[in-house]
Amino acid sequence: MTSTIEHSAGTVVILGTGGTIAGASSVAGDNVGYTAAQRSVADLLAAVPPLAGTPVEAEQVAQLDSKDMDAATWQALARAVARHLARPAVQGIVVTHGTDTLEETAWLLQQVLAPAKPVVLVAAMRPATALAADGPQNLLDAVAVARTPGARGVVAVLAGQVHAADRVRKVHTYRTDAFSSGDAGPLGVVEEGVLRRFADWPAGVALGLDVLDTDPTQWPWVEIVTSHAGARGDAVRALVAAGVQGLVVAGTGNGSVHRALQQALDEARAAGLPVWLCSRCAGGVLVPAPGAAPSPAAALSPWQARLALQLQLLSARRGGG
Ligand code: ASP
Repeated sequence: MTSTIEHSAGTVVILGTGGTIAGASSVAGDNVGYTAAQRSVADLLAAVPPLAGTPVEAEQVAQLDSKDMDAATWQALARAVARHLARPAVQGIVVTHGTDTLEETAWLLQQVLAPAKPVVLVAAMRPATALAADGPQNLLDAVAVARTPGARGVVAVLAGQVHAADRVRKVHTYRTDAFSSGDAGPLGVVEEGVLRRFADWPAGVALGLDVLDTDPTQWPWVEIVTSHAGARGDAVRALVAAGVQGLVVAGTGNGSVHRALQQALDEARAAGLPVWLCSRCAGGVLVPAPGAAPSPAAALSPWQARLALQLQLLSARRGGG
């Protein structure tokens, strides 16, 4: 499907959380030796003159390098997003974020809120002090997506591309077009402030904000273990002994697991621990053998699977399953 949609000007709330988009270096040409999360969301807005005079509001929810993202910040962010979405005057939300864990935050917000309005995560690969910073254009594009009539769900906007929350992956360490939607391709592209859309908006049933109501220090401990040549079971046994509450296995290829690691995982399962299998491959899903039960994480990345299992355990604690 291809469609071109025009703008309308509802209020867009920009929630700041930090990241490279808010990063600064003392050397203007330095794109890697900067410090993330230095500029306020108000400063980021001020660097985008076309947004002046349009109905935007800014709120600083957090100020961190997204490599350090945590449950408390996710809880605060999800609550802030929900609070603003409930305001009739608000057409959409933009969240400024670091690129490193953007896909985890996007996926969490979609699962918890499945919003009927757009929630657009935006980031940058270069700091605000770069000679050719990508943040201002990305922010302008993100607001254009948030203002697109009919937009809904959680998406990410970078380098002129729009990615759905369940598909978006950071796939490059350095390039400004560091994100991909894998096999599906992007949901759309933004061209001179206009969205050209190729796929439907993210949809689904929201788990509900309540699922995050547990004290963030008490969220279930779920770890990811990876299968590889020469893998051993010792790390899994140590995790179980330390009290881990769930495990995600990033298997090789179509979900194969080294026999030594598998043995330890079987022990963990036998002890009652949930163990979910996915693939360490960047693309594709686990394709089950005929008659085999599919893994609950078959179509998820290891980090999505970790969150999915955490949410399931949180929900179970609250009597939800
Ligand atoms: N470490 C940074 C962050 O995730 C990287 C970035 O934003 O590109 O906050």
